[in-house]
Amino acid sequence: MSILRFDLLTEAFRRKPVKLEALDARPSELFGVNVFNRERMQKYLTKGVYKTLTESIDKGLPLNRNIADSVAQGMRQWAMDMKATHYTHWFHPLTGGTAEKHDAFIEHDGRGGVIEEFSGKVLIQQETDASSFPNGGIRNTFEARGYSAWDISSPAFVVGDTLCIPTIFISYTGDALDYKTPLLKSNHAVGKAALDVCRYFYDDVSKVISYLGWEQEYFLVDESLWGARPDLMLTGRTLMGHDSAKNQQLEDHYFGAIPSRVLAFMTELEIEALKLGIPVKTRHNEVAPNQFELAPIYEETNLANDHNLLLMVVMRRVARRHGFRVLFHEKPFKGVNGSGKHNNWSLGTDTGVNLLSPGGDNALENLRFVTFLVNVMKAVHSHNGLLKASISSATNAHRLGGGEAPPAIVSIFLGSQVSQVLTRLESTDTDDIITFDNKSQLELGVSNIPELLLDNTDRNRTSPFAFTGNRFEFRAVGSSANSAEAMLVLNAAVADQLCSFKREVDALISGGMTKEVALVTVVKRLIVDCKAIWFDGNGYSDQWKEEAARRGLDCETSVPLIFDRYVLPSSIEMFERTGVLSRRELKSRCEVAWETYTKKVQIEARVMGDLTMNHIVPVASGYQSVLLDNVYKIKALFPAEEAEEMSRHDVELIRRISGHVDFITTNVTKLIDARKAANVISCEREKAIAYHDTVVPLMSEIRSHIDKLELIVDDRVWTLPKYRELLFIR
Ligand code: ADP
Ligand code: MG
Repeated sequence: MSILRFDLLTEAFRRKPVKLEALDARPSELFGVNVFNRERMQKYLTKGVYKTLTESIDKGLPLNRNIADSVAQGMRQWAMDMKATHYTHWFHPLTGGTAEKHDAFIEHDGRGGVIEEFSGKVLIQQETDASSFPNGGIRNTFEARGYSAWDISSPAFVVGDTLCIPTIFISYTGDALDYKTPLLKSNHAVGKAALDVCRYFYDDVSKVISYLGWEQEYFLVDESLWGARPDLMLTGRTLMGHDSAKNQQLEDHYFGAIPSRVLAFMTELEIEALKLGIPVKTRHNEVAPNQFELAPIYEETNLANDHNLLLMVVMRRVARRHGFRVLFHEKPFKGVNGSGKHNNWSLGTDTGVNLLSPGGDNALENLRFVTFLVNVMKAVHSHNGLLKASISSATNAHRLGGGEAPPAIVSIFLGSQVSQVLTRLESTDTDDIITFDNKSQLELGVSNIPELLLDNTDRNRTSPFAFTGNRFEFRAVGSSANSAEAMLVLNAAVADQLCSFKREVDALISGGMTKEVALVTVVKRLIVDCKAIWFDGNGYSDQWKEEAARRGLDCETSVPLIFDRYVLPSSIEMFERTGVLSRRELKSRCEVAWETYTKKVQIEARVMGDLTMNHIVPVASGYQSVLLDNVYKIKALFPAEEAEEMSRHDVELIRRISGHVDFITTNVTKLIDARKAANVISCEREKAIAYHDTVVPLMSEIRSHIDKLELIVDDRVWTLPKYRELLFIR
C-alpha cells in the first residue's frame, strides 16, 4: 500500500464515533423547534393576522399584502429570539440544489446608524440579480432581474444564524426559473381536477392534496479518503477504480448492523431534521457497502420536497462533523448498486380518504379506487416519455437500466391482485358489474378489493413505477435530483387526464346514463387504452426491451434526446391546458437541461484527462521503469538463457503496461479532441448530443484500461484510494 493511502486509512480507522451531548428531549419535543410553524405564528402574530395568514395558507392563496408587514415583524422577532441575525430567501434554481443570499436584519436609520429591520416587502418580493442562474434564454442580458417571493405553504425556519424563507423564483416577465413555481401550480391543478372527480363519490370533500413520501439513498465515505480522490471531490463519483474483491455479493450490508460511526452521524442528523420539522422515520443500510437510506413520513408534496432539499443540505453539514462526506450521486461506484430517491406518491382528501386506497367491501369506494388508479395509469401511459425526461440526467444515466435500477422504459407494476381486478372489470359486461341490492345499495360485480394489498409482498423491484397497495412508487428518480421535476410532471399529467375523464363521464351522464354506468364505461375503456404501460414482468430483461418497443413505449436511452420529450406537442398541450408550464418555459427548461448535461460530462472528461496524465500514467510508467531496471540487472548478471527465463514475467508486465498506457494516452488525446469539437457547437441540444455520443463512450473505454492497470501496478505506488478502502467503514 502506498504511504499516502496507508496514512489516510489509518486516520479513517482511528476515527471514533462523535459523541453527542446528552439529550433529554423526546423527539416530539424537538419536532419543529426551528420552524415558524402555526404554534409560533400564534405566539408572535396578533389574532387577526394569524387568522388571515392561516386562512390564506389553507386556501392555497398568496400572502395577503395587508398583513405582510405584521407577519414580517412577528417572524423577525421569533427569528431574533432564536438568535438569528440574518435572513435569506431560500429557493431552488434549475441548477439543482438550493440557493440563498444572506442579508442582515439591518437597515440605515437615516441618521448614520442602523436599525434592525425586516419589512413585509421583503417577504412578498425580493429582487435577486439572478444572471448567473440558468434560465435557458428566458432573460435577456439587459433584464437580468429575478424575483423571489415567500411560498406561504412552506414555513420559514432557522438554520444557524439565518432565517430561511422558502420562496419561488421567477423572472421579470413572470416565467418560472425554479422547480417550486411549477410544482405549486401542478399541485393546484391535480388538486382541482381530482376534487372534481371526487364529487362523483363524496359530497363532503373540499380539497384534494398530492402527497409525497421520498426515500433518500446515499453513500458515506471517509472524508480523508474522499479528499485523496479528485474525481469524487469534483464530480461526485469515481471515474476510475477496479471492483473490490468483496463488495455486495454476500448481501451482508443490507439491513445489517449500522457501524457505530455511522449511527452517531444518523442520530445527530435525525435530531437536526426533527428540529427543522422534517418527520424522519426510518433509517437503514442499503444494498451496497457504505450505502444507507433515510425516509420520512409522507407530507404534502411541496413541503415534502422542501424538506428533502433541506435535509440534503443538513446531511452534508452533519456528515462533515463526523469525518464523512455524503455522496448523493446516483452511481458513485461502478459495480455496486447506485442510489435513487423513490418518490411515493398519492392523492388524499381533506376528509382523510386516500384516493388510491382500495375500498374493502364498499362498492362505491372500490369504484373510486379503480377510477383514480386507472386514470393515473392512463396519464403515465400518455406521457411515459415525458416522465422519463423528468428523471433523466447525466448522473442518473449511470444508474438507470444497469440491471440494478429501474430500466430506462417507464412501465407500471400492479401486482397480481390489482391486475386481476382490472382484468375482471375489463372482461365483464357493464350491466353485470353494476347491480343494486334490495336496499338499492351499489354492488360492484368485481370481487372485493381487500385491504391486504397494503402488505402486498409480491413487490417487483425491477419496475420504475409500482403500485404498492395505496400509493404509487416512482423509483426511477435519482438520488441527487430535485424530486419536484418528477412530481410536477406526474401531477400535471394526472390532472390533465382526470379533466378529460370528467368531460367524458359528464357527457355520458348528460346522454342519460346513470353516474355509475358512465364511470364504469369510461374506466373500462381506459383499462384497454393503457394496457401497454401495464407490465408485471422482469423490467431488467432484454425481452422486455423488445416487447416495450412493440408496445410503442418510449425506449430512447440517450439523455439529450430524452429531453426532447418536454417539447413534444402532446407535452406542451398538456402543460398549457393544466397551466403548469408555458411553451416558452418548457423550451427554456429544455435548454437548461441540455446545458447542464453538457457541463457535467465536460467536467468529468476534464477531470479524467487530468487524473490520467498526472496520476495514472506517471505511476504506471514509474513502475514500468522499475521493472525495466530489474530486467537490465538480471541480464547483466546472469547468462543469457537463464536471464531470459528469469525476466519473462517482468517483460510480460512491461508489455502489458505499455499497451494500456498507449491506449490511455491515445484516447485521452481523442477525448480532448472530441470535447473541443463539441465545445464549438452553438446549439445546446446538438452540443449535448455530441457529448453523449462522442465523449461519454471514450471515457468508459479509457476507464477500463485504467482499471486493468490498477490490478497490475505495485500497490505501494498507487496513489488513489481503492474501492476496497473507500467502500468499507468500520
Ligand atoms: P419501502 O422501502 O418498503 O418502499 P419505506 O418505509 O422505506 O418503504 O418508505 C415508504 C415511504 O412511503 C415513506 O416515505 C412513507 O412515508 C411513504 N408513504 C406511505 N404512505 C404513503 C402515501 N399514502 N402517500 C405517499 N407516500 C406514502
Ligand atoms: Mg420504497
